Amino acid sequence: MKINNQYLSDLYARVEKRNAGEKEFLQAVGEVLESLVPVVEKRPEYITSGVIERIVEPERFVQFRVAWVDDNNRVQVNRGFRCQFNSAIGPYKGGLRFHPSVTASVIKFLGFEQIFKNSLTGLPMGGGKGGSDFDPKGKSDMEIMRFCQSFMTELYRHIGPDTDVPAGDIGVGAREIGYLFGQYKRIRNEFTGVLTGKGLDYGGSLARKQATGYGLCYFVNNMLAAKNDSFAGKTVAISGAGNVAIYAAEKAQQLGAKVVTMSDSNGYIYDPNGIKLDVVIQIKEVERGRISEYAKRVPGSIYTEGAGVWSVPCDIALPCATQNELNGEDAKTLVKNGVKYVAEGANMPSTPEAIEVFLANNVFFGPAKAANAGGVATSGLEMTQNSMRLSWTFEEVDQKLERIMKNIFESARNAAREYVNNEDNLVAGANIAGFLKVADSMIAQGVY
Ligand code: NDP
Repeated sequence: MKINNQYLSDLYARVEKRNAGEKEFLQAVGEVLESLVPVVEKRPEYITSGVIERIVEPERFVQFRVAWVDDNNRVQVNRGFRCQFNSAIGPYKGGLRFHPSVTASVIKFLGFEQIFKNSLTGLPMGGGKGGSDFDPKGKSDMEIMRFCQSFMTELYRHIGPDTDVPAGDIGVGAREIGYLFGQYKRIRNEFTGVLTGKGLDYGGSLARKQATGYGLCYFVNNMLAAKNDSFAGKTVAISGAGNVAIYAAEKAQQLGAKVVTMSDSNGYIYDPNGIKLDVVIQIKEVERGRISEYAKRVPGSIYTEGAGVWSVPCDIALPCATQNELNGEDAKTLVKNGVKYVAEGANMPSTPEAIEVFLANNVFFGPAKAANAGGVATSGLEMTQNSMRLSWTFEEVDQKLERIMKNIFESARNAAREYVNNEDNLVAGANIAGFLKVADSMIAQGVY
């Protein structure tokens, strides 16, 4: 990692030493520090206050054993995590991920990104993230419930509506949030907005399920408008077939685009006639099946095993699956095939090499921190509704979401214009705009 500033480069070397082998976390820190070069050159108080040294170190990181009993009466042991990264501007806020690839490094990278993302939303939320290496795939409902109850039996002591408010992420949807919430309520004897993404019958917000995917498309709409362009008639490639991917596809279609791909960890589908979302929703949300089923049900569509979704020509690419799913070679293929806009629905889906390719080829690139912040923003709106003990209509929440995404786009663009003299560099813009508010708050609150 090459950072063109001695202070930041030395700091990165220390972070690297202290977090040896944590490649996802180091990748996320490296990208932010690189963006801060023009900031520390212009504003030396960020060096003298030691705020950047502090921002790269989590305020608290808990790891715990999660023991549970499977359907065969065997004891299983998983590892649970919660990273409370930064509380300068509000209670810790960020999702829980249940996936076998979850490690301390993955949770720290996600928690670190969350600090800046939450700051960009303009809502009072600090950064946090958690999860487990538990794999929900193939587990029965009762196994999921027993796991969630065991997980919460430890987690409850670390969270609370004014302390830390977790939500969903990969492998954690409405079902898991329900079991987690139920256990928290039983242990604490309190009905509070301690989790977001709850069911609509017990404090959830309308439009939360759609929020990350819809927000992503609202963000892209701002990118398009800045180029006097629109979604109408565009071909869109989407990866993933989970919560973010499905609702990104729905909104892109509503805005007049044709979505031609979706994927899961086994392979991808290509439907030249445009993806039929009702079929995807039936397979993924109802049957919890594999995306390969789609090709068996929709004539004219093709399923291809393995990675390769980025080989499909498109105008707009929306990676919505997982980190580092789009590498430098994929980016070159997308550019060769004429992609004009890329925006990240997943967290850190593009490798640093891929981002370099996009920026060097004038592809307008929307980084995750900004482009997928609609989910957490709507979680923030869920917290507000819970505190006020009321619920807004779908339209009210959706309108607020659209406005928040516009504000995020403008904040990133303004910071990019001011600090790197290139309003299209939203990577730098999002990192800088997110950083300034948190750093200034930390300085105001004294050394901690
Ligand atoms: P889901 O669990 O609903 O869906 C994840 C999708 O990505 C599934 O289709 C899954 O396929 C696929 N996937 C997961 N791992 C891989 C992999 N290694 N290779 C290929 N495909 C993979 O999760 P979400 O949609 O909620 O999350 C997707 C991304 O969006 C994550 O990066 C998450 O952090 C980010 N995000 C989510 C938010 C939210 O509100 N949910 C908010 C902001 C960001 P399979 O079924 O085979 O595992």
